[in-house]
Amino acid sequence: MSGITTKSLKLTAGLDQCPSIGPRRRTRLERRGILNILDLLYSFPFRYEDRRVRVTISDLREGTETGLLATVRSIRKKVVPKLKAPVIEAEIFDRTGEIPVVWFGQEYLLKQLSEGTQAFFFGKVEYSTFSRSLVLRSPVTERIDPEEGFRKSYHVGRIVPVYREEEGLSSAVFRKLVGDILRSLWGETFDPLPREIRREADLMDWFPAIVEMHFPKDTDRPLEELMLPSYPPRSRLIFEEFFLLEYLMTVRRRSILSMGRAWTLPPGGDPSLGHFERGLPFSLTEAQKRACGEILEDLSSSHPMNRFLLGDVGSGKTLVAAFAILQAIRQGRQAAFLAPTEILAQQHARTLAQVFLAVRPEEGKAVQPLLLSQAVRGMDRRRLLSALATGEQQLVVGTHALLEEGVPFHDLGMVVIDEQHKFGVAQRRALATKGQNPDVLVMTATPIPRSLALSYYGDLEISVIDELPPGRQPVATFVVNDSGEAFWKKKILPALRRKEQIFVVYPLIEESETVEAKNAVDAHRFLSALFPDYRIGLLTGRMDATEKESVMERFRRGDLDILVATTVIEVGVDVPNATIMVVENAERFGLAQLHQLRGRIGRGGLPGTFFLVPGAATGPEGRRRLEILEAHSDGFRVAEEDLRMRGPGEFMGVRQSGLPMFLLADLVRDMERLVLARSMASRFVEESAGKEGAAWELSGIEEFLRFRYRNVDQWLAIR
Ligand code: ADP
Ligand code: MG
Repeated sequence: MSGITTKSLKLTAGLDQCPSIGPRRRTRLERRGILNILDLLYSFPFRYEDRRVRVTISDLREGTETGLLATVRSIRKKVVPKLKAPVIEAEIFDRTGEIPVVWFGQEYLLKQLSEGTQAFFFGKVEYSTFSRSLVLRSPVTERIDPEEGFRKSYHVGRIVPVYREEEGLSSAVFRKLVGDILRSLWGETFDPLPREIRREADLMDWFPAIVEMHFPKDTDRPLEELMLPSYPPRSRLIFEEFFLLEYLMTVRRRSILSMGRAWTLPPGGDPSLGHFERGLPFSLTEAQKRACGEILEDLSSSHPMNRFLLGDVGSGKTLVAAFAILQAIRQGRQAAFLAPTEILAQQHARTLAQVFLAVRPEEGKAVQPLLLSQAVRGMDRRRLLSALATGEQQLVVGTHALLEEGVPFHDLGMVVIDEQHKFGVAQRRALATKGQNPDVLVMTATPIPRSLALSYYGDLEISVIDELPPGRQPVATFVVNDSGEAFWKKKILPALRRKEQIFVVYPLIEESETVEAKNAVDAHRFLSALFPDYRIGLLTGRMDATEKESVMERFRRGDLDILVATTVIEVGVDVPNATIMVVENAERFGLAQLHQLRGRIGRGGLPGTFFLVPGAATGPEGRRRLEILEAHSDGFRVAEEDLRMRGPGEFMGVRQSGLPMFLLADLVRDMERLVLARSMASRFVEESAGKEGAAWELSGIEEFLRFRYRNVDQWLAIR
């Protein structure tokens, strides 16, 4: 650990090496996830309190909270029979006057304070009807050491940090811990950001920034400004968070660029896109064409493709994926398409079969996808596996089953991953390593905001489909309070009479499959009784794959009018005749997920309606979230609002990714800084690559990343 310190106390030292932290306190800190000095320094206050001395006793006003420097005239303990703890009373004075002080409990003050002691008091001034005078009630009190003077205090006479109190650690204790450590590190010159970056982005150095985040310098600005991203120490640390993540992403991007590929398309003007489009019953949207063009470019470069296809629900990502797959197969290689659920895999297999039939070359046969999932067993499975091993089978569509070790490929050249957030990095890698540096295309069912794409998915190239195919019907969205009988008769029955189909969706309640199933079963019973003339189906997570598929198939064929389902239908199901969806307990869903559900309707020629029914206990905040969907139909907008409200952790697998979470940075608010940090990180890595002596600096950054974030190694590893 060469780089990370110049002081006797190493930043990476465990808490046990800190003289001021005993075993009990250490356990408490560790429970908060604070394992070393660096962790402690990065535990920032959530607000500040102004405990500067502003007034003298004669200025005191009732109802204010004030800091005061005064001398004790007298102090005593009073036992009040009714109270459990003794009352401590004192008189204090300065050159302008005097005032009584009372504390409840806090007997230790008798040891600290005596006649003539100078102390700092911070507390509330009240009017006592008993003594008919102003009194200072239970102030924070700290004796001033005449040698040191109160400026050296952590708790008083300054702007002080306030920390979250948990695990039996008070804010004051935490403050002192941090203060002592900062003192023993005083003059530290370590900095995880390279010097030229700091200079170029005009950033504070690391140690002063850390110090001032905890103990701000005296300032005339209002304290709220210390919480703003423009506060220089904060601004520096926000940039640092972005820079470090983007560093990680750049290193990954570069490692992929350094890999070779087994084949390349001839560069420029390939006729395949035109041929592909002529086979289809409709023309591609401009956005789809652009995405296909970007893929063609990837395929004619010297390194494997690593691309993220972003597009709103229904924007036609599958078709773009089909195009990519076809390119690999034309070159005699194999392709694998990974989907998170059985239903979705089946549907993709079906869709791809249709597309490949339509665009097949005049002579030669169409690419025929086969399905691999847990449900494919016995002879079928063995035959498929052997056809994949020999290369005879060109395309397989499957679930997690694809990732198993016993699924070998002859020459896997193209990997497509739908709903990539349902799979971890490790799983992505498990599939990619079945081939030799295959091309990888990942997709999500809902758009993610650009800031998220640039940060947590910053190792991928990005294609955006920002246009829906023509003729897409609008979906009106309503938050409704009650989905009782009247609602169904008024809002749903007319659609049933028009022979349109209805989805009713219940959230998957992970803690309780029983509750989940019960809700759906109850609704199924209720609707069956209400609409005896209509056919009502039930689909829950508990059913096995064949059962699920047969219910889905009946709904797809129109043999069911209403489908009551838990979120197993969440993704990708295509039923053009479905025009209404009712989502119960809608507050339990993420906005992105709801938007995705909304994309299931209005797919045929008919306009759709989307009803959100919040559970009875939903608060105003939860309702406001749902109203975002009422107001916005654009998935990118919805996603951004979702990110703003919930933060990246709750978003599309970010927490599961093992990537560092931002402590100070806000992806939506600080977007500009992110973009800057990204371009600087990538240029820095680029320029360092050829430079002598740069390796040391790079390894310093990586060491720091490891210590700050611990789990980044799988991200530093290639794919
Ligand atoms: P998603 O991006 O949500 O995965 P899909 O690929 O499932 O979207 O496409 C949604 C629907 O739109 C499908 O039925 C598909 O056939 C149709 N579609 C895709 N592209 C076009 C297009 N350019 N013109 C008309 N319909 C299209
Ligand atoms: Mg899709």
